[in-house]
Amino acid sequence: MTDTIFGKITRGEIPSEFLYEDEQCVVIRDIQPQAPTHVLIIPRKPIPRLVDAEADDAALLGHLMLVAGRVARDLGVGEGFRLVVNNGEGGGQTVFHLHLHILAGRTMEEGELARGVN
Ligand code: AMP
Repeated sequence: MTDTIFGKITRGEIPSEFLYEDEQCVVIRDIQPQAPTHVLIIPRKPIPRLVDAEADDAALLGHLMLVAGRVARDLGVGEGFRLVVNNGEGGGQTVFHLHLHILAGRTMEEGELARGVN
């Protein structure tokens, strides 16, 4: 499997500020924020895309969602945020190590979802 920048970040090989971390995932600020609050929840396990996740990953995927809610609350955006997973090139994914985007701090327009975050 090809390594990615997120593999290096989760392993600590590229110094990054973790807003949150545990044994299963880390949370960093996006380097090119698309909203005033834009953070990434990245599992330590390098699943390339959401469609590559398997039944064994169910608990991990659930954990990432719970972390997203907790981090959003801790960042003060718990009352309004968008959670995005881009899947594959057609879905706008650029880093092939599964991750969740939390976007908040600006009005999320209806219909904007189709345009994605990039
Ligand atoms: P996606 O397009 O869903 O694959 O999202 C990849 C995201 O990772 C983009 O929003 C990038 O701005 C972000 N990104 C890429 N490299 C880094 C990095 N070194 N640190 C933080 N965010 C990054």
